[in-house]
Amino acid sequence: MPKRLIETSFTEEDRKIENSLRPQLLKDYIGQDKIKENLKVFIDAAKKRKEPLDHALFFGPPGLGKTTLAGIIANEMGVNIKITSGPAIEKPGELAAILNNLQEGDILFIDEIHRLSRQVEEVLYPAMEDFAIDIMIGKGSSAKSIRLELPPFTLIGATTRAGLLTAPLRDRFGMIHRLEYYSVSELQTIIINSADKLNVKVETDGANELARRSRGTPRLANRMLKRVRDFAEIKFDGIITKKVADYALDLMEVDRLGLDQMDRTLLTTMIEKFQGGPVGLDTLAAALGEDSGTIEDVYEPYLLKNGLLNRTPRGRVVTELTYHHLGLENKPLDEV
Ligand code: ADP
Repeated sequence: MPKRLIETSFTEEDRKIENSLRPQLLKDYIGQDKIKENLKVFIDAAKKRKEPLDHALFFGPPGLGKTTLAGIIANEMGVNIKITSGPAIEKPGELAAILNNLQEGDILFIDEIHRLSRQVEEVLYPAMEDFAIDIMIGKGSSAKSIRLELPPFTLIGATTRAGLLTAPLRDRFGMIHRLEYYSVSELQTIIINSADKLNVKVETDGANELARRSRGTPRLANRMLKRVRDFAEIKFDGIITKKVADYALDLMEVDRLGLDQMDRTLLTTMIEKFQGGPVGLDTLAAALGEDSGTIEDVYEPYLLKNGLLNRTPRGRVVTELTYHHLGLENKPLDEV
């Protein structure tokens, strides 16, 4: 896959800045008001009863704040958090060891939880339900299963694809929350807060321009801030104004709706090769030389949300807005 500026998944570049920018408390977590309200009630209730929080599942596109939220919950509850991911746990024994090392009330955060193998996932069922794991001792006819008690803990799962979770796993979460894309004004606040922490000067309309082009995603907002800061320092006088933001983002080929070259290629391919659709996901993926899961998880959600793409029973279609945005509106299709 080509490297994108607006790649929403976690990259090496993010590691350096994300930890310093991650909000630590619920009050500093911008947006997602419904989730925050719910969590606050559950956290207060669990603290009052001196019990661990119910298991929680967060789902939504990458970079919207699932990991951040898990960290905040740990801080608010005053407990430790252990962070791992679905693909990192290869064998049931590895998960059993992680669970066995938890202390009472701890949070276990499993990112990309839909990627756990079936056998590993099965270890979670009794762990989530009864705070216990069943371990097989011995082999063949003398093999027997013994039950190991675990301290009460909270599992927080995150996934970009809730649809891929098995029903037995999904059913064991007491809370399931879908994270939404952020509004421009929420992103603007995040950018201003981050600029403050990074000691970068940003004017309101500069922050607004960055926010508008950040695809509703805080991770991108922070990454763009960092990149644009470099332009501001090298090419201008260090302050991120709208002019600086426009200059840098145009140069990085992120357009006014936050679309990059890859998004535009997807949309123009649909228009040029498939007359704007309907086109099936697999056909489109083959035409783009891209994995259909990536198209569905990474590219499509934002295009759908912004009305540049629609899903119909017969496949994906572009909209009038797509033609308008790409500046193709008045051209007959065969000239597009
Ligand atoms: P995910 O786990 O959903 O991929 P992260 O939790 O890693 O996303 O978020 C990416 C970055 O975006 C974090 O480091 C944090 O700085 C920022 N961020 C995410 N959500 C928020 C928020 N609601 N308020 C402020 N910053 C946020």
